[in-house]
Amino acid sequence: MAKKRRIRWDRVALVFLPVLLLILLIIVLHDDNGAGKDGSSLIPGTVSSADSEHSGAMPAQKSADEYVIVLDPGHGGGDGGCTNVDGTRLEKDDNLRIALAVCDALQKYPHVRVEMTRTTDEFVSLDDRCKLANDINADVFVSLHRNSAESGSGIEIWVNSKDNSMDKRLAGYIMELLEDVGISKNRGIREGYRTTFDGDNYAVNRDTNMPSCLVEMGFMTSDTDNTYFDQRLDAYADAIATGIMEYGGDLGIYDAGT
Ligand SMILES: [Zn+2]
Repeated sequence: MAKKRRIRWDRVALVFLPVLLLILLIIVLHDDNGAGKDGSSLIPGTVSSADSEHSGAMPAQKSADEYVIVLDPGHGGGDGGCTNVDGTRLEKDDNLRIALAVCDALQKYPHVRVEMTRTTDEFVSLDDRCKLANDINADVFVSLHRNSAESGSGIEIWVNSKDNSMDKRLAGYIMELLEDVGISKNRGIREGYRTTFDGDNYAVNRDTNMPSCLVEMGFMTSDTDNTYFDQRLDAYADAIATGIMEYGGDLGIYDAGT
């Protein structure tokens, strides 16, 4: 004889409740993504960061009337970069300070959007930095670092060793304006990679699809450079911002009137 089946509602609930919760969670997360995409006003310059990427929301794609600048403060989190002589000052902190100041200086320009690869002291991989810029089709990528050596001082700007005519122009504007502010030495616009040169490049120059450069804002091992960096931070930031804007304007990439 077939036994009459009784529906055990308590068991049904046990199985379906987690599924229901999972579906609700997916809906909530999906909404978060949408909010990130819609939240970009264009005028004047806005800022967002790769932070949002970590929570699942990507910055919006570049639109036709935007000049999109990615600022990349080097290192961060467990990667401190280089230090001053007694190790009390970390490159990652200086890089973030100057990048945030450049970001501020860019806010006054209409139709400019600034994306930061990081806005806090966190580790972001080189791949993620480049991916952010490539994914949104940014116009310009500027990486900000500081140098170190047994001796030496001054600012140098690195560009990719190949297809670099635009990179060199971008770097040229920035260097000229930094020199106007006052730097200990112009060490030139350099191609490739500092330690070897057999076609090697900095990843942020090699793996970004847009004109890019890596600015070494003086030596952390030079007291003069550190003093200049601290005293002239805002002026340096202004110079870098103006350089990026003049480059965009002169080459027809940026039009304030559109
Ligand atoms: Zn560095």
